[in-house]
Amino acid sequence: MGKIDGFLTIERETPGRQPVPERTKHYKEFQSLPSTDVLNKQSARCMDCGIPFCMSGCPLGNIIPEFNDAVYNKQWETAYHILKSTNNFPEFTGRICPAPCEGACVLGINEDPVTIEEIEKNIIEIAYQNNWVRPNYPVVQQDKHIAVVGSGPAGLAAADQLNQVGYKVTVFERQAKIGGLLRYGIPDFKLEKNVVDRRLELMKNEGVVFKTNIEVGVDYSAEDLKRNFDAIVLATGSTVPRDLPIKNREAQGVHFAMDYLKQSNEFVDGIRSLEIDAKDKNVIVIGGGDTGSDCIGTANRQGAKSITQLEIMPKPPKHRDATMPWPQYPMTLKVTSSHEEGCERKWSVNAKEFVMNEHRQLTGIKLVNIEWKKDPLTNKYLSFEEVAGSERVLPCDFVFLAMGFLHVEQGKLVDSLGINLDPRGNLIGNDKEYKTNQPKIFSCGDARRGQSLVVWAIQEGRACAEKVHEYLTTE
Ligand code: FAD
Repeated sequence: MGKIDGFLTIERETPGRQPVPERTKHYKEFQSLPSTDVLNKQSARCMDCGIPFCMSGCPLGNIIPEFNDAVYNKQWETAYHILKSTNNFPEFTGRICPAPCEGACVLGINEDPVTIEEIEKNIIEIAYQNNWVRPNYPVVQQDKHIAVVGSGPAGLAAADQLNQVGYKVTVFERQAKIGGLLRYGIPDFKLEKNVVDRRLELMKNEGVVFKTNIEVGVDYSAEDLKRNFDAIVLATGSTVPRDLPIKNREAQGVHFAMDYLKQSNEFVDGIRSLEIDAKDKNVIVIGGGDTGSDCIGTANRQGAKSITQLEIMPKPPKHRDATMPWPQYPMTLKVTSSHEEGCERKWSVNAKEFVMNEHRQLTGIKLVNIEWKKDPLTNKYLSFEEVAGSERVLPCDFVFLAMGFLHVEQGKLVDSLGINLDPRGNLIGNDKEYKTNQPKIFSCGDARRGQSLVVWAIQEGRACAEKVHEYLTTE
């Protein structure tokens, strides 16, 4: 442990952000990289608790007190090696993870945890700058071929781990580019795509083969997959969005959030696609999670006239309250950088119907306020009632539906491989084995656990790879 009283004498300091009027003119990341002196001081705030709750808070079990100590002692290369031992892609999590590690940090008692995510991001960026991140060629070669279907963070982590132990790994992706939601969902202002490309170059160099524009189950049959590979990892994501089947759902102007975000992550002749363009439009975003926030940030950059975010849940409290109907996270009011950029937020409202004109063009949305009711037995808000007389129409040109994702895509691939689904509609693959009901076929990431987080996807990819290795060396 570095500075024994660091947590008492040094205040939490987070990096500066470009002012809103400047950053909404572009799609680039807008957070400044702090100086190494600042990071050195921030790492000194780590108390090196006897029980490092931060490590158990991190799905990857990152060895946080140790890399904090290395940063405090200005041993950046050591810090990089500690970080990389548990996390294949710290450049992704260091930018976009909601940092459950910070939620678990003991200093969180005063709501000023160690800036773990920022330290992580800088360790990996400094490692890249110093050319410490070099191809790591497998020392042994295994005579076995593995197919990974899906190139999101789960598929990439599984491919990386398996390649490192010498298997011949081929990643199949149905999109034109590799990266899954890192590429087509999460906007550049949170994660620039050159950060993804930089990692992919490294993986290609290390021997991973990427095949794009191939939808397995359609362009490449399940039979070929089974015949040509010794093991198969399905990491196809949870891509079926939750719909809002209310009156006039067919109105032009109502889009799933992912249709909106995907197009704005695509380029035609080097120009960002504007197929759905919010310039000068009144935009409504339904849903209060990361996807909703990304729609807000994108609409602001396109020059929307107004943006309103609707949420059926009540406004979360400033401090944790276990009775709230929110899922465990977020337990407290979450204000993202996209909210800072401008958007009105309405809580406890329910959408009743879309309003459209004679050309079937969306013109508004009918809303009603709701009141959440506490269940006397559990003391939790489990049901709600409409507030009489609160119905009104909010005019709008676009509605983006960002109410989460139901499960993996069913049909084609899943059917042709004969994979069973769990009661929620995800691929079966138990937590211990990651095995599906079919021999030599494994599953991981959102396809298995349901829509989640990048850090969980990486954890699942790593754990699944271990099970594939175990299977190939013992069967
Ligand atoms: P995905 O990233 O969904 O990748 C699955 C891939 O499989 C896709 O590329 C798909 O095209 C491919 N595929 C599917 N079927 C086939 C087939 N038959 N053949 C070939 N390829 C196929 N998490 C965070 O931690 N922080 C955030 O800020 C954050 N923001 C988000 C913003 C949005 C808009 C969304 C939608 C999610 C966000 N998430 C965030 C969640 C995170 O992106 C996911 O949990 C994570 O990407 C899941 O990884 P995955 O590899 O399991 O699946």
